[in-house]
Amino acid sequence: MITVIGSINMDIVVETTVFPKQGETVFGRGFHTVPGGKGANQAVAVARLGSHVHMVGALGQDAFGNELRTILQQEKIDDTFVRTTETATGIANITLFDNDNRIIVVPGANADVSRESIDAARTLIAKSDLVVMQLEIPQDTVEYALSVCEELHTRVLLNPAPAENFKAEWMERVAYFTPNETECADIFGVDVESALERFPNQLIVTLGADGARYYDGTQHVFVKGFKTKAVDTTGAGDTFNGALAHALTTNQSLSEAVEFANVAASLSVEKFGAQGGMPQQEAVLKRLG
Ligand code: ATP
Repeated sequence: MITVIGSINMDIVVETTVFPKQGETVFGRGFHTVPGGKGANQAVAVARLGSHVHMVGALGQDAFGNELRTILQQEKIDDTFVRTTETATGIANITLFDNDNRIIVVPGANADVSRESIDAARTLIAKSDLVVMQLEIPQDTVEYALSVCEELHTRVLLNPAPAENFKAEWMERVAYFTPNETECADIFGVDVESALERFPNQLIVTLGADGARYYDGTQHVFVKGFKTKAVDTTGAGDTFNGALAHALTTNQSLSEAVEFANVAASLSVEKFGAQGGMPQQEAVLKRLG
């Protein structure tokens, strides 16, 4: 059983052919809302693959909050520890313009995921095979959750996004650490190779279409990206992390788990939306052959 502690957002997407200048109003050409937030995305990725998953998070007492809770439940994610707070539900305001985008994230209720939220979920954390976290909730909460997981002997997979919220001393407390190449460079300030050699079998770096890599203590292991036609890579990282968590808690070795996650993420880029393309287990097994 996996517990995801993290963000839940509604992505508010506006498509336009022209960006408004300051003080200007323009007509856009499309609008839609899509569920998101790295925490919720990773929980959905885990659930689609068939693992039991519990979410620890927070939503506002508003229409987006109600809709997002319903989506969690439809995905069979246990939402017992998703609190409803006085703050508005977190949103990401995304303006799409050709291949370019501009994004404003308002954390809202995600900022209310607190030490109390972690304490409330202690029994759950103790029973979990793995806790999965990202960095879209307060830094203090992540730090506290790491200490609770340590105390309760529960392993942690940390996806350090956004990287600026990461603290170097946390490395000792995480079993698996999954930055992309840019995050890896920002965090360690050295080339990927040197960073990997410092953290064998712990640091797994994702490389976009090129796949992922880690160091096994003796050699560098490259898992080549699965060649496919990508229509939307949003959520590829979240699918990778959810699938890695699922695989690591179902008796797969690290090399098998990275292979599994890589294939799951390649399926996710073939459809639109972060959660839209997240695969079921059969699809991953079929592609793995
Ligand atoms: P994002 O922020 O877009 O969700 P990320 O930057 O966190 O992703 P990436 O390294 O870009 O992470 O991608 C994660 C994984 O997704 C890769 O390791 C790979 O398995 C898969 N992936 C990403 N892009 C592609 C692609 N174009 N084709 C096949 N697989 C892909």
